[in-house]
Amino acid sequence: MDCIFCKIIEGAIPSKKVFENDRVVAFHDIQPAAPVHILIIPKKHIATMNDVTDEDAEVVAELFAVARQIAKEQGIAESGYRLVNNVNADGGQLVYHLHIHLLGGAKLSPLVA
Ligand code: 5GP
Repeated sequence: MDCIFCKIIEGAIPSKKVFENDRVVAFHDIQPAAPVHILIIPKKHIATMNDVTDEDAEVVAELFAVARQIAKEQGIAESGYRLVNNVNADGGQLVYHLHIHLLGGAKLSPLVA
């Protein structure tokens, strides 16, 4: 399967990992959109949020648990951060392997002015 994030999981493409267990990996985004920009992904290849099934409920919950933990470790839990999941073309999804963006370290512009 030609998936960049699967290759990052395998170690075939290098990345700056900040977390890894049997189910989840988190690493710095190659093109950061904020001072802290970390991607949290399941090791299981799930293309988009639309493809999440009931059997993925635990790993999806774990993505958020890992995001909370990393936010604390990065020192941005109290100041605040944003979690983003882009879905398909109109959502701006570029990589078709489920991921949550953890963005913070600066005051982010509101989504609605
Ligand atoms: P999307 O638009 O799919 O929600 O976000 C994909 C993200 O993956 C982008 O922010 C992009 O910078 C990041 N990205 C794409 N290729 C690589 C890569 O090879 N390594 C890392 N660390 N991030 C990547």
